[in-house]
Amino acid sequence: MTETDGSSPGGLVVCGAGAIGAATAWFLAGRGVQVTVVERHEPAGAASGKSGGFLAADWCDGTPLQALARRSFALHAELPGRVGRDWGYRRVDTLAVGPGRRTGHEPAWLGPGFATLGVLGDRGSTAQVDPAAFTRALLGAALALGARLVAGRVEGLLRGGDRLEAVIVDGRPLRADAVVLALGPWTHLASGWLPLPRVGALAGHSLLFRPTVPLGAQALFVSDGSGDTPELFPRADGTVYLCGRSTMTPLPDDPAAVRPDPRAIAELRALAPRLAPALADAPLLAAQVCHRPVTADHLPLIGPVPGRRNAYVATGHGPWGILNAPATGEALAELILDGTPRHVDLRPFDPARLAAA
Ligand SMILES: Cc1cc2nc3c(=O)[nH]c(=O)nc-3n(C[C@H](O)[C@H](O)[C@H](O)COP(=O)(O)OP(=O)(O)OC[C@H]3O[C@@H](n4cnc5c(N)ncnc54)[C@H](O)[C@@H]3O)c2cc1C
Repeated sequence: MTETDGSSPGGLVVCGAGAIGAATAWFLAGRGVQVTVVERHEPAGAASGKSGGFLAADWCDGTPLQALARRSFALHAELPGRVGRDWGYRRVDTLAVGPGRRTGHEPAWLGPGFATLGVLGDRGSTAQVDPAAFTRALLGAALALGARLVAGRVEGLLRGGDRLEAVIVDGRPLRADAVVLALGPWTHLASGWLPLPRVGALAGHSLLFRPTVPLGAQALFVSDGSGDTPELFPRADGTVYLCGRSTMTPLPDDPAAVRPDPRAIAELRALAPRLAPALADAPLLAAQVCHRPVTADHLPLIGPVPGRRNAYVATGHGPWGILNAPATGEALAELILDGTPRHVDLRPFDPARLAAA
């Protein structure tokens, strides 16, 4: 990836290089428009690099997210071929596990204190990616199509009437024909500059191990008696991801300053070898926390900023930001360039429904 300074010939400016910003940039760049992505920390440095990367086709059925999730699940299957890169996409079997009597349908690597409680999905309906690799690959592919990556902090916006004219990056204007705000939970900072609904942050902790023997292609949702539902995902590259312990850990203004709660990490470390004995002596690659961007009605904000002709927002994807990144990017590119999205109706996600007074 290349990085450039803040000067710009205009074009579309995407603020934030998480999964949502990267997918939006790739779909826009694929249409031949000039795209500049601005990131203050590092691509996939926040939730998009620390998430589970679990994908489900039908878990949002019956909700306003159904079409977005189903379109995204289909796009996830296509994208490695379309982009020509590998980010660990694979289909998985998905099980609910917890303390109980063994059924004979447990993964061979599951600890003896746990049993299969039910089947939540199979290789037709559930899948996974390495979310950091996915995000960086989409961004890298956008750059290969001519997009630019600017390292800098988005600090404000310059307005001319009902249009935005520039994004202020590290004190300097970056001219923009249109702006997409994809700052994840940090979109709340933009509420001072634009009439945006409130975006909150829900923290979740995780560990990443590299056991000597790879586990199987099963995703586990765990009832461990704590009231929490940890999730364990062996990945295609042999690493194993375990997350859980959501806390109200405050969101620092600087994404680089995010720090986990040691107690939550200790609890996950104690759980890991009970769930999968192969993790007992496996090297720990990461012990981390990240923040899901959340909205008041638990639906994302995808669409035009009320009252601004060339400003768009894409955030608030909560627990499904990796799943829903592709269809969000696709729909936003269609909305911006064609005036209407072709594959997914974005009206349930219109920011105006919750817009600040
Ligand atoms: C523990 C955990 C597990 C999860 N598991 C799953 C899962 O299995 N499947 C799934 O679909 N989703 C999952 N999620 C949710 C998913 O990770 C998020 O919804 C998604 O990553 C949000 O992506 P984003 O691009 O909106 O935000 P982010 O990834 O937060 O990206 C925002 C970017 O903006 C940058 N930024 C912030 N402020 C500025 C600024 N002023 N200027 C420039 N750049 C800035 C940040 O550095 C960051 O790179 C999980 C989340 C957590 C916390």
